[in-house]
Amino acid sequence: MPEWEPVIGLEIHVQLKTRTKMFCGCENVSGESENTRTCPVCLAHPGTLPVPNKQAIEWTVKLGVALGCEIASRALFHRKNYFYPDLPKGYQISQYDIPLCAGGKFVVPGPDGDRKIGIVRAHLEEDAAKTIHVGGSGGRIAGAEYSLVDFNRGGTPLVEIVSEPDVHSADEARRFLQLLRQTVVELGISDAEMEKGSLRCDANVSVREAGETDFRTKTELKNMNSFKFVADGIEAEIRRQVEIYEAGGEVVQETLHFDPGSGTIAPLRSKEEAHDYRYFPEPDLVPVEPSVEMIAAAMDDIGELPAARIRRLETEVGFDLAEGLVSSGRDRLYERVSGDRRAVANVVMNQLAATGVDPEAVNGTELAKLIAERERIPRAAFTEALERSGDPGFSADDYLGETAISDASELDPVIDKVLAENQAQVETFRAGKEGVLGFLVGQVMKETGGKADARVVNERLREKISS
Ligand SMILES: [Zn+2]
Repeated sequence: MPEWEPVIGLEIHVQLKTRTKMFCGCENVSGESENTRTCPVCLAHPGTLPVPNKQAIEWTVKLGVALGCEIASRALFHRKNYFYPDLPKGYQISQYDIPLCAGGKFVVPGPDGDRKIGIVRAHLEEDAAKTIHVGGSGGRIAGAEYSLVDFNRGGTPLVEIVSEPDVHSADEARRFLQLLRQTVVELGISDAEMEKGSLRCDANVSVREAGETDFRTKTELKNMNSFKFVADGIEAEIRRQVEIYEAGGEVVQETLHFDPGSGTIAPLRSKEEAHDYRYFPEPDLVPVEPSVEMIAAAMDDIGELPAARIRRLETEVGFDLAEGLVSSGRDRLYERVSGDRRAVANVVMNQLAATGVDPEAVNGTELAKLIAERERIPRAAFTEALERSGDPGFSADDYLGETAISDASELDPVIDKVLAENQAQVETFRAGKEGVLGFLVGQVMKETGGKADARVVNERLREKISS
């Protein structure tokens, strides 16, 4: 069997959270009653004219700089013509051959070093309205009785980012997307929430035999609305294509829908005719000419990017924790908490994350005190303290008074009981699977109401099992 190399390019749409829409003064908000945030401009009444949103242009420039793109000195808006009920003008104002940002490189740190993913372009356009299909399955048009259109979304500013086909695994695609999302959020230009559609991702997927240099036929996977679905969808599509080739078949170019429930892939619509959008320059808008000052301001405004922070933190806590901290934005809290770096990273990424407490609300000094003493106090007290750590006026001292049970004579009867009741796990441990120790520690904790000293329990368990 040949070795297959996946070739993946991503197309990402990011909705900008400017105060108003792209070409009119309508409020740019979601969640309002349908068709209440509209005006003659975004409803395309005859005789209306678009006025570009300056903030949206500045933010696109800022994103372009963060993506390492060249910023065009003179970018154009084009009309992309197509007919659909979500597009009242009959065309979308977008960018075509001269986008605002082009030719970038986005660094994605991985466990085996940096991967540089090429950015073909990042351009600015207006979003279409939202169609709501009623009566079909899963809100899709197939089988729907009728469809409704909500024009509130119509005309909101959207940046489309197109990557080079430089991504070579589902995991790398997820990593790229997560880092891009975190970058966008930190730039303050979008909420970038996949479930809400303010960040949307399509993937172009093909495979080829290792060593091949030409590309084979690609398929397009549409609208996967979580990081996990993106990875799962790409993984499933890679498998599907490899199976087709290995059975002697050919992959057909088409647009596909991934159903995360069943893990299956089905055609969305066939793409036998290449769309002719009849692009032409928008005659109602002058070219966009970002000034040198605007680009300089964008550069000044960008702090240390997530990729660089992952590399910096990796030396302290290892790659996995560093990536987790940065791509969740939890590294800001991590940096505020002194003490053993791995212990702090673990607590911030795991136990504290499990409580759902907003990391930004946590007092770093108090959390540092708590972490330093975490092995001396009962686990239950530690957990409770973490749950309260975001409260105003939280003091670690309120929880440090309690002492965990570390006296072996008190713990031994409980440990003996747990060992007697879990013989199977004990055998598993003896067979070399040490991971099962965590389960046994957990049982002792349960018996003691979380008051046992975990370190002593660990030691005693090991002693008793191996004696
Ligand atoms: Zn409007």
